[in-house]
Amino acid sequence: PTAFSSLTDRLTNAFKHLRSKGKLSETDIDSTIREIRRALLDADVALPVVRSFTSQVRERCLSTEVSDSLNPAQQVVSIVNDELTAILGQGVDRPLNFAKNPPTVIMLAGLQGAGKTTLAGKLGYWLKQAGHTPLLVAADLQRPNAVTQLKVVGERAGIPVFAPQAGVTSSDETAEDATVVTPGATHGDPVAVARQSLEFARQKLYDMVIIDTAGRLGVDEELMAQARDIRDAVQPQEILFVIDAMIGQDAVQTAQAFNQGVNFTGVVLTKLDGDARGGAALSVASVTNKPILFDSTGEGLTDFEVFHPDRMAGRILD
Ligand code: GDP
Repeated sequence: PTAFSSLTDRLTNAFKHLRSKGKLSETDIDSTIREIRRALLDADVALPVVRSFTSQVRERCLSTEVSDSLNPAQQVVSIVNDELTAILGQGVDRPLNFAKNPPTVIMLAGLQGAGKTTLAGKLGYWLKQAGHTPLLVAADLQRPNAVTQLKVVGERAGIPVFAPQAGVTSSDETAEDATVVTPGATHGDPVAVARQSLEFARQKLYDMVIIDTAGRLGVDEELMAQARDIRDAVQPQEILFVIDAMIGQDAVQTAQAFNQGVNFTGVVLTKLDGDARGGAALSVASVTNKPILFDSTGEGLTDFEVFHPDRMAGRILD
């Protein structure tokens, strides 16, 4: 992905100097480590992550036995590859958790603009292709446009959207578009909407419920409490923290705040097609100790994939 292309170039350069070498001296290793360190920092990888990464790589380079099959440069690349896989995955590469009794509930959380609504469509579409019957739920009632936006996304993906209807106070439902009315409030109560969506899914046999929650511009305690209330009401199998890979150095702090706020179960990296400083996103799994489950590389419905730490490490080093 382009978000890592400059990091890829820099790392490739760092290894190039090793190509011609026979056995590596400590000086060779240290100068390579310095270049790796600079490449990671320039890509916006968080300092503590860079520190532990480089010290890990250095230690392993120094203690590596001379191998018959790999030359020294290849050995260093292989170690960097292992360690990148480790920070990207914390040793975990797991699939989505499913409920024993459907519906499986997936809640999305993250800053406004991170790509939650877009992701709801992609995830829904992907699940539908796999034979599931997903339902999208508009529990972002903060932004007037958010419900409409999710409906557009649902339409494009061919997936029904469960949403409150402004100004209506009964709890009737219109069957065709699965729009359900929230009782009592013009703008609806997101917790009630989320709760009702589960009832609706059970009745109509939707086996996956994807809940879009309100984004916020910064970390906002009130909205975090709202997200917690939604979580507690629906007890999701997955709470996915959606993060824009372009967010830069704020990524770590934001991820930590959401981790404390809602104790998410997994991460989704978005906008990996963006410009070349996506390194901050590489820190997120490491600092929160939560796995990255998916990544997203564009605005289209299918610009989306299951995240595998080892494959991503391989691509970064390609
Ligand atoms: P939300 O506020 O978190 O719901 O974010 P949205 O889903 O509305 O996304 C914000 C903007 O980012 C929209 O213009 C999306 O089309 C765009 N977007 C979302 N994911 C990606 C991605 O992976 N790559 C690119 N280039 N744009 C994306």
